[in-house]
Amino acid sequence: MFAADNKSTFSNTIDGARALDQADPLRQFRQEFYLPKKLAGQLPECVYLTGNSLGLQPKQSAQYIQDELTDWADLGVEGHFHARYAWMPYHEFLTEMTARVVGAKPLEVVVMNSLTVNLHLMLVSFYRPERKRFKIVIERGAFPSDQYAVASQARFHGYDPSEAIIELTPRDGEDTLATADIIETIKKHGDEIALVMLGDVNYLTGQAFEVEKIAAVAHACGALFGLNLAHGAGNLLLALHDWQVDFAVWCSYKYLNAGPGGIAGCFVHEKHAGSRDLPRFAGWWGHDKASRFDMGPEFDAIPGAEGWQLSNPPIFQLAALRASLELFDQATMPALRRKGDLLTSYLQYLIDDVNEAAPGFCQVITPRDPAHRGSQLSLRFKGESKILLEQFKEQGVVCDFRRPDIIRATPVPLYNSFEDVFRLYEVVRKFAMRG
Ligand SMILES: *Cc1c(COP(=O)(O)O)cnc(C)c1O
Repeated sequence: MFAADNKSTFSNTIDGARALDQADPLRQFRQEFYLPKKLAGQLPECVYLTGNSLGLQPKQSAQYIQDELTDWADLGVEGHFHARYAWMPYHEFLTEMTARVVGAKPLEVVVMNSLTVNLHLMLVSFYRPERKRFKIVIERGAFPSDQYAVASQARFHGYDPSEAIIELTPRDGEDTLATADIIETIKKHGDEIALVMLGDVNYLTGQAFEVEKIAAVAHACGALFGLNLAHGAGNLLLALHDWQVDFAVWCSYKYLNAGPGGIAGCFVHEKHAGSRDLPRFAGWWGHDKASRFDMGPEFDAIPGAEGWQLSNPPIFQLAALRASLELFDQATMPALRRKGDLLTSYLQYLIDDVNEAAPGFCQVITPRDPAHRGSQLSLRFKGESKILLEQFKEQGVVCDFRRPDIIRATPVPLYNSFEDVFRLYEVVRKFAMRG
């Protein structure tokens, strides 16, 4: 495949888009998904560019869920041991695939609960404020659930959030954060910071952070480092273990296609795997598997991320996620990211093309360098973002809008095509050229 920054690979014609699709080694994966028919507008097939918000349904999901319903009907309680995929260890069938998606050791990941629940469980263990060191660093304008979670944890420990929370802020006139500024802020408050936590990628700007560098600075200051990978898992090439990230959480209904409200994921670095003195909220599913059914009074945590489980997990949700993770395993993250970079570079090229004809019509606020973003481009259209979104809808192009004026367009490498990106361009160009 060609280099993502090679402008000579791209052209602003439908034939150019189709040639890119022809050369795409992952193109057959699109057939593994349902494209929402009712959103197609005037197009034969909908252009779904909002997999960052809710991933599409793999065709295999229904069968995997149906298998569990059948086993439940046929086996009742015995399904825990005798279902085709026994329910007792069912979450373990997802562990290795999950570890590959986020760059972790199997010991370090578990699929459980939902995202904000996992975030609280992680904060219980990894936000441990002390006298002077009680602050949490997050991005200004972090996803609301993260802001609420962090502020409520600060209050839970008796701190005023306005004192306990340090917000990273872009320079005047800029939308994204400079790594140098993040590092400077952490160093400046180094001995007061208990935890640095970032949303990677940022849900609004699409910026991916230089995690390895920032984690190293946080650690050098004596702080812990955590990630919310709601927009990173299944999107970015991650190496959570090597980067020494202390914990990470993510949902699976965005890039990971597990279905609305699907079961979430959690990473705890190996260095904390056997740590028995970490405070944690415990439940029976996190208890040593061999003695779980002895029903003893003392909690004995499973080493690793599994030790943070609370309840026996929802099997239908695990089945749905398994269908999607199998596709990730076939496609592999490096190949997905390569195609993803090409898709966003192509979209960037086409937006540049529109701007040449209609100067300043569209601003891409996501960093231009593919190393600093995933599959999402955040676009700002001179006060017209909302009107434009309606035009998209009529044309069967599905993007989403976030206040105050951002349209997020996300070509997902697992099922989007270069022709999808071209269809978006057609609507934008038509609108830019009107009148
Ligand atoms: C999507 C998203 C959430 C959603 O949280 P749930 O607990 O799954 O409802 C939280 N944080 C971020 C950064 C998100 O992008």
